[in-house]
Amino acid sequence: MDNCIFCKIISGEIPSNKVYEDDKILAFYDLSPQAPVHVLIIPKTHICCADELDSENCEIVGYIFSKIPQIAKKLGLENGYRVVNNCKEEGGQSVFHLHFHLLGGKKLTLQMA
Ligand code: AMP
Ligand code: ZN
Repeated sequence: MDNCIFCKIISGEIPSNKVYEDDKILAFYDLSPQAPVHVLIIPKTHICCADELDSENCEIVGYIFSKIPQIAKKLGLENGYRVVNNCKEEGGQSVFHLHFHLLGGKKLTLQMA
């Protein structure tokens, strides 16, 4: 997708600090970390946001979650972590390519808004 930062990260046009990659997904460090460990996990296919998921394209979400334990272990998050998805403007989404924040490295407080 033209003009999508995360598609450009996937293609290598924009550099990233990669944590995990396979043919379906990429995980890389967030440029502006909100926790001691803050990684983004994205599908390699462009899906705008969680609100665009349907029965045709939702398989990738299960795939991402199936890889999270492996990614978390690599990051040393044995004591736990948080997975966050921000959806559309009022959900706080700023990059419109589906992504999951993997946050950890300290005891996280519950901030709902
Ligand atoms: P969200 O606000 O949920 O859409 O999250 C987008 C995230 O992408 C933010 O936490 C940004 O810090 C992060 N981000 C934006 N551009 C880059 C980039 N080039 N490399 C790594 N993280 C980025
Ligand atoms: Zn994209």
